[in-house]
Amino acid sequence: MHPRFREIVIHARREGLRVIDRCNLTILSEPGYEDLADFLAQQRVEVSASLPCYSRGNVDKQRGDGVFDASIEGLKKLNALGYGIDGSGLTLNLVYNPQGPNLPPPQAQLEADYKVHLAEDFGIHFNHLLTITNQPIARFGSTLVSKGQFNSYMQLLRDSYRPENLEAVMCRSLVSVDWQGYLYDCDFNQMLELPLSDLIGRDRPHLRDLLNAQSLEGNPIVTRDHCYACTAGQGSSCTGALKD
Ligand code: SF4
Repeated sequence: MHPRFREIVIHARREGLRVIDRCNLTILSEPGYEDLADFLAQQRVEVSASLPCYSRGNVDKQRGDGVFDASIEGLKKLNALGYGIDGSGLTLNLVYNPQGPNLPPPQAQLEADYKVHLAEDFGIHFNHLLTITNQPIARFGSTLVSKGQFNSYMQLLRDSYRPENLEAVMCRSLVSVDWQGYLYDCDFNQMLELPLSDLIGRDRPHLRDLLNAQSLEGNPIVTRDHCYACTAGQGSSCTGALKD
């Protein structure tokens, strides 16, 4: 956790900004963070939390022993504060990504399955499930390479390309800012160290350059093969599928 996380959130909320915490559920019960859920609720922060499956076996296999139980505890804590409960105004979304080299299943159907299982088995409620396609980069990319699955996964992404997703990919309307203030078209480009292009002639545009720029309208987006993960099938972004 960034040591000044709470300070950043408080300032952003004071400015009236919408804040979404991409929350690791297990942190909510870690020593020293027991009051984190209360803080998020007080600040009316939206929570998006990874839960790769509603079954203990699959989650622990992907994330490690005990992660499922700790995640369920975290979700119960958030529900008790009103998160995911109708009328509370506190948004709790869950995030799903496939465990292997596959595309996510249809988001609406999977959300319905999650809602039934989590309510019946644990009494847990949430607002929406966001399905995200695994990018063939970083840890997932190297796992694919080590298992000899990289080329077949890339082929699956290319074969599933749907041009209508281009209208809605998140790099059309958002930028990603690294911890030093440098700008990228998205988090994936940040991980690949592909900076935003061409902004007022800077090689490596910085947040402060935006103050001088008229607009980012028309600024070219830096694309590579990993972009097929955003444009395959139902599409993918930080806010889930682009189309059902
Ligand atoms: S990976 Fe490519 S398509 Fe997806 S958001 Fe980033 S730049 Fe856009």
